[in-house]
Amino acid sequence: MKNTVLKFLGLFLAVGAIAFAPMSAQAVEQSPEDRAEVDEFVLGAATAIMLHEVGHLIINELEIPILAREEDAADTIATLILLIQDEEDDERAARYLQAFVTNWFLFGLDEYGAIDDAYMADEHSLNRQRAFAAVCLAHGSGHPSFTEHAERHGLSQERMARCESEFESAMRSFAQLLTPHFLDDGAAQIGKPIILYDETETYAGLRERLEALDFLEELAELVFDEIAMPRDVIFGTGECGFPNAFYTPTFLDGNPAVIFCYEMAEMLDEGYIDAFFSESAYEPSTPFENLVEENEVDDAAAATR
Ligand SMILES: [Zn+2]
Repeated sequence: MKNTVLKFLGLFLAVGAIAFAPMSAQAVEQSPEDRAEVDEFVLGAATAIMLHEVGHLIINELEIPILAREEDAADTIATLILLIQDEEDDERAARYLQAFVTNWFLFGLDEYGAIDDAYMADEHSLNRQRAFAAVCLAHGSGHPSFTEHAERHGLSQERMARCESEFESAMRSFAQLLTPHFLDDGAAQIGKPIILYDETETYAGLRERLEALDFLEELAELVFDEIAMPRDVIFGTGECGFPNAFYTPTFLDGNPAVIFCYEMAEMLDEGYIDAFFSESAYEPSTPFENLVEENEVDDAAAATR
């Protein structure tokens, strides 16, 4: 089963790679604490990104109606899943959501001065819009750690005032549409999860770490403990040849799959180090850029913990 994902992707051309060029700044030496902070960001962002792919899975496998862009709906599902975790998982879910937000702000750094029609015509919202949308839902949920976060990132008071109703409306829609598929409401489980940490030589250490963390098992549990799925679903990691994560309705043996590419973890790692542990290579002009520029590493760490 060597490089199954890479082979599959040779036939699968509909994947949209995420545009992201790491800033070419000089990395400084990292302490073990700094390294732990980067690792935690990568794990949190990777999990949240995979929950976005789970959003696509839920929409398509359960034929959930959506009346706006699927990419935004998938972000909303990922954000709500993290916001409604049980109390014992609550703190970890909040850290993951903060990593999700930081991730979109980091991707968004490349958008300044670059937004043209290609950006506007993309099926995804702009990265900073995705960040603010998640911050707003989190603030609207009443989660205490996000109100300060929303202010620090410059979410306007006008928008903040509407976040509670945005959250309530999203939760109501989510609950109504998913109820027929909840195991608790009597739906019968048909599918089962299939876990695949695909072989890799280049990213062998990363593969080992993800496996030790039960990265895919935890994602699979989040879905299959709650929701009746009509088919088996592959939860996979693999070498893709480019940094991305994706959902596809027909992977190996025709089963749907959500896949996290090892290259994506590498990109998240480098992007975070470039932003928070390097000499910054640009002039700050937004609250987030100022945060990076001032090298408020402790605050940045708080934002991802
Ligand atoms: Zn997507």
